Amino acid sequence: MPSKKGEVPGREGINLFRIAGIQITIDFSWFIIFILILWSLSVGYFPKEFPGQNALAYWFAGLIATLLFFLSVVIHELSHSLMAIRLGMKINEITLFIFGGISKLSEEARTPQDEFKIAVVGPLSSFALAIVFRGAAGALTALQFSFMAAVFSYLSWINVALGVFNLIPGFPLDGGRVLRAFLWWKTGSIARATKWTSDIGKGFAVALMVIGTFQIFSGRLLGGIWMIFIGMFLRWVAEGGYQEVLIRQALEGVSVREVMVTQMVSVSPEMKVSDLISSFFLKYGYTGYPVMENDEILGVVSLSQVKDLTDEEKENRKVREIMTALSKEICVGPEDSLADALKKMIQQNMSRLLVLDKNQVVGLITKTGLFRFIEIKRLFEG
Ligand SMILES: [Zn+2]
Repeated sequence: MPSKKGEVPGREGINLFRIAGIQITIDFSWFIIFILILWSLSVGYFPKEFPGQNALAYWFAGLIATLLFFLSVVIHELSHSLMAIRLGMKINEITLFIFGGISKLSEEARTPQDEFKIAVVGPLSSFALAIVFRGAAGALTALQFSFMAAVFSYLSWINVALGVFNLIPGFPLDGGRVLRAFLWWKTGSIARATKWTSDIGKGFAVALMVIGTFQIFSGRLLGGIWMIFIGMFLRWVAEGGYQEVLIRQALEGVSVREVMVTQMVSVSPEMKVSDLISSFFLKYGYTGYPVMENDEILGVVSLSQVKDLTDEEKENRKVREIMTALSKEICVGPEDSLADALKKMIQQNMSRLLVLDKNQVVGLITKTGLFRFIEIKRLFEG
């Protein structure tokens, strides 16, 4: 089973900025691509295409081109997110990876039509950017800034390439999503549509890796490594996407009540953190506890809030000071579906939620419990 679904992939990145309520994050892998592109433009492409300038001019042009390429990828990804938001979905975050971006959709499109619209705007925005950069290149040529014009025509070309690459009909690429929307609409089954298109995606990924290997043997080391990287990444996301759909389906028809834990061990808000560790974490082995005072629920405290404290803090701090206070975000209702519960866990980055019924805690639902349930269900229902 997938280790961390919904968190494609669950690595930390650097938060850049927020736009329209969406956090733009760069994965560390992006620095590799940044330096690679900057270097290959400043030392390779521009000097070859446009000889006779000094090194500083090439690096300057390379830097502008790399930054605008980066901006192009952000705009491509934003177009997906903005369309999704328009269609009533929630997008929290876009993470930029080694060769592009992934919008962290905390939910799937509800209909094939929505899926189609969200997918198709990506390549369209890349093509639109290509036209804009082409126009800019034309204007710069007319103004006799021919070196800068070369930079912009490169950007125009790279956006066409980005658009075309994304149109390849294998999931998770945009073209694969368009095809998935079509098959979903035809067959009525998102699971089957995802299976087929992610198989195509994986096939394409393997082809990239094979071609990359041949390139390496024929002396084109850098290009070959690129292709193998992209292939590995695509394969991984294609597989994850399919698993995610299966899990979502398994969770859709089951209520929280059926899976929640009702026998809970709760802790007092006035307890010292060191006591919480010795008398609860080490004793019961659960990774989180509801915090209660006179039968009233105040919040939850979990291992992640404790593990980085110093010995002194553990001795001086109380549970009340470190817990996550009660809010709508950490609660679900007993009749909500498991799919809703999981969505909330992903959105809040929590591994457990309180189950509230008329302001009374009636249980606790954990990510581990949820996945155990899927595993068991799979075992008995094939
Ligand atoms: Zn896209």
